[in-house]
Amino acid sequence: MQDYREAARLDALHQLKLLDTPPSEHFDRITRMAAQIFGLPIAAVSLTDQDRQWFKSRVGVEHDSIPRHKAPCAEVAEARSLVVIEDFATHPCYADSLLAEHGTRFYAGAPLVTKDGYGLGALCVIGTEPRIATPEELAALNDLAAMVMEQIELQHSFGRIDPISGLPTRAQFREDLADLALDCPGQARVAVVADLARDDQIAKIVGAMGAVRLDELVREASHAIQNALGAERTAYHVGTTQFAFVSPPDVDLAAYLVLLERGFEAIRATSSVRFVTSVAIGVRPFRLGEVPPEDVLRGAASAAQDARRNDGAIAVFSAARDSEMRRHYDLLQDFGAALEAGDQLRLVYQPRVDLATGRCLGAETLLRWRHPELGEISPAEFIPIIEQTALARPTTQWVLDHALDQLAAWQAEGLDLTLSVNISAANLMEPDLIQRIQLGLMARQLRPAQLEIELTESAMMAQPEKALAMLRELAEAGIALAIDDFGTGHSSLAYLQQVPAHVVKIDQAFVRGLSAAWGADYVLVETMVSLIHKLGRRVVAEGVETADAATILAGMGCEEAQGYWFARPLEVAAFADWVASRPALAA
Ligand code: C2E
Ligand code: MG
Ligand code: MG
Repeated sequence: MQDYREAARLDALHQLKLLDTPPSEHFDRITRMAAQIFGLPIAAVSLTDQDRQWFKSRVGVEHDSIPRHKAPCAEVAEARSLVVIEDFATHPCYADSLLAEHGTRFYAGAPLVTKDGYGLGALCVIGTEPRIATPEELAALNDLAAMVMEQIELQHSFGRIDPISGLPTRAQFREDLADLALDCPGQARVAVVADLARDDQIAKIVGAMGAVRLDELVREASHAIQNALGAERTAYHVGTTQFAFVSPPDVDLAAYLVLLERGFEAIRATSSVRFVTSVAIGVRPFRLGEVPPEDVLRGAASAAQDARRNDGAIAVFSAARDSEMRRHYDLLQDFGAALEAGDQLRLVYQPRVDLATGRCLGAETLLRWRHPELGEISPAEFIPIIEQTALARPTTQWVLDHALDQLAAWQAEGLDLTLSVNISAANLMEPDLIQRIQLGLMARQLRPAQLEIELTESAMMAQPEKALAMLRELAEAGIALAIDDFGTGHSSLAYLQQVPAHVVKIDQAFVRGLSAAWGADYVLVETMVSLIHKLGRRVVAEGVETADAATILAGMGCEEAQGYWFARPLEVAAFADWVASRPALAA
């Protein structure tokens, strides 16, 4: 019975994952207070392990543990009550104890007891002179011991320990790193984040074998990593299949990278499934105290993402990549506010010109964002970031609403134009997209043919079948469709032939350098124009920057052009002026 109780007690202690963790200010504060109240040089939070007393926190003690045998703290843990030894020299049990050998004469320990009634250890104070303890002092020691327990339970219950892996969490990583930095400021370390599976692999495991199996695999990996690290160091569970740890001090980075790769290769070799088949490891060298813990972790995690993206096993943190990622993140955060702000977003309009007559047939609607602090930000930067997120829908809706308002206003002024609007791949997955477009047109009494939707070749290829179905519906609703940035994607001709687009826009990359000479671009553009014509579509050349290019394109039979040679994207007022100033319009 006694053995069983001790086994359960040890289990409760080990579950807390407190043993051998770095010192923590949360505990040290309490220990200092205990020493002060008693006016004694030594105090400790002492946990009773199988055969040692291990100090989570200590004042005036050199070593971090002593043998459990004959330690009064063990008695406190076992009895779960206060123990006071007023003079070791005259005490029947402790007169010849290890503490007495070191000149200890006085001891008072208050028990650390869990809610389940397990005695974990003691909060103790020690003196080198015989002494008595007043009832007030002992009451204070009991209170402080209760505070230690609150701290322990707080850490355990507030997401400090992951319930699946049993490893300390991201929050604990931050805290431990902050504590380590207080202990050894300036010391060189390497933070490591290992991501054991890609999102699609996780989804496959859950789909095929259930979430319980995923939990088992996470536990298996946790054990393997913690075993590889040894008892001295801690593995943290920082994401579904992500683990983090910190290297010993002053490692040689090149050698350490080799060690990591080999270590994870060994873990993979002993894994029960192909779970760890695609490990991506990110490392971030840093100096303790010089980089905030959260940045250390984020840096290592972003390096792991880099490794993943480049199909590599390991990548070292790059400050440049990090600031790029941070800017991405910031832009994403700020764009949501921009959509609501009302004064940050606006549309500009770039004329599309009939090459044969010089007439302006319409315009492409292009989104502009003036960030309150960063100034103008190019859509080439922010669109790729936001279109991967839930913001794709409200953004396209914002553009549609404002573009259709403008189209209606121009129509009222007698300007008959077609406006084209760019949409993102994600928009094709919105089942009500067409309905929203139709409602927008009807509400402003506009004809469907006055609107053209531009979609890039690569956006279509993200989900070719779904895209095709959606585009067919759009065409049936009478809305014109243009394939944008033609020549840069990877669509097959068989696919393109099925897309119900009226217009194909040749990407500016081929058009910008077009000159009279029979260069590579000339041959490419000429081939594209003839191909598009054979597929029965109109050709629009984008990025026409010179008169030569315009002439060459006209000679090739290209119907329309757009580019700086004719006009840059224009603000509303400038657009109206530009159209009015075109003599060809009157023709
Ligand atoms: P895009 O749809 O291919 O638009 C043409 C881009 O080429 C525009 O860049 C335009 O300013 C630029 N351009 C036009 N003529 C010339 C020229 O002669 N020379 C050069 N060098 N460039 C020229 P912008 O406005 O920076 O837009 C970049 C891309 O951002 C657009 O490429 C489009 O993919 C995307 N985008 C812009 N507005 C929106 C929007 O409202 N929704 C979505 N989904 N994407 C948008
Ligand atoms: Mg476009
Ligand atoms: Mg384009």
